[in-house]
Amino acid sequence: MPPHQAFTIDARAGAARAGVLRTAHGDVRTPAFVPLASSATVRSLQAEEVAALGYEMVLGNTFHLFIQPGPELIERMGGLHEFMAWRRPIITDSGGFQVFSMGHGSVAEEVKRRRDRGTAADPRILSIEEEGVRFRSYLDGSERFMGPETSMEVQAALGSDVALAFDECTPFNVSRDYTARSTERTHRWLDRCTAWHERNAPPGQLLYGIVQGGVYEDLRRESAQRVAAAPVGGIAVGGSLGQDKGQMQEVVAWALDELPDAAPRHLLGIGDVDDILGAVAAGIDTFDCATPTRLARHGTVLVPDPEARWRLDLTKATWRESRAPIDPNCRCPACREHTRGYLHYLSRAKELTAARLLTLHNLTFMAELMRGLREAVIESRLEGYRDAVLGGAEPFGPVSAGSRESALSIP
Ligand SMILES: [Zn+2]
Repeated sequence: MPPHQAFTIDARAGAARAGVLRTAHGDVRTPAFVPLASSATVRSLQAEEVAALGYEMVLGNTFHLFIQPGPELIERMGGLHEFMAWRRPIITDSGGFQVFSMGHGSVAEEVKRRRDRGTAADPRILSIEEEGVRFRSYLDGSERFMGPETSMEVQAALGSDVALAFDECTPFNVSRDYTARSTERTHRWLDRCTAWHERNAPPGQLLYGIVQGGVYEDLRRESAQRVAAAPVGGIAVGGSLGQDKGQMQEVVAWALDELPDAAPRHLLGIGDVDDILGAVAAGIDTFDCATPTRLARHGTVLVPDPEARWRLDLTKATWRESRAPIDPNCRCPACREHTRGYLHYLSRAKELTAARLLTLHNLTFMAELMRGLREAVIESRLEGYRDAVLGGAEPFGPVSAGSRESALSIP
């Protein structure tokens, strides 16, 4: 692995790190949460609003942008940064997760169904071969192909600052044998990605390899060693991390054990408050997850309530005439200006303003959590901060019990 000049670690607290990832479009202070801008927008928000919340990087989705509007158009429009008017760092996923989700079903479906689906069961997946994956476009049914080189080409055309290698995201309930074969193929695809990237990458683009290996310790460790030995600028941990939070921590720990300290580490698709607290403590630097923004669009907001998994469903009738804000200590426009009663009504009526206001709130909550974590690492009080948030404290900093009470229980 080459030296990671793009990443510096400024402070540590145990295994946790506070650092700076330097990219062609600016710095990302870590630990950081990366909001999803899957289809070249953080849904319902303008790029500048996302920046004003304190975010320094967003994640674009290679698969969705490949299907619509197509990388060629985005390239002609000046690249993804110009196209969406976000002139700060962008990470793009490889498309592998979405391509394979069609075959495997989503992780949520999988956990519900628990049925063995080691093969391409979805009619939209036409074939999975060494070369890549053939599938039908969800837009118009046309036959499309994506392999490691395609994914790299698309990410080069988008001009992202961090590209991810094309991988197969294996579900957690497939056999060990399937996981082993799939992980091996992901490693061969990584070699093709690094070969393509070395020759053709846009200046300054970093390539992250992805650790797979499912929930099998030997496969995870081998995969982490394999990715760590590749010429990559950073490492992402992906795939199935198990069926519960305990197993997830274990799986992430196996991977982290094998990774070089100097490499920036990204955890794919994880965004629950307790998971982030645990993973930062274990040494993860960046996260992306659909949950905070997706919850907002469905009327659920993030609040300091561990027993409710930090969630409050504003669509419940309880809030119909509530004059309380979501959180009296939050500085977002939803909390500064509006009652739960009004936001309840907007959400139930499916008004666009609801999605917008609740997205602003949830992303404010996540930004404050990450800022709190970063400061806690720098000030060597990570454990105290983590315990406080796990105990129901605001990520915004210490507040009196009284204000927390009013945030949670006044209808
Ligand atoms: Zn708020």
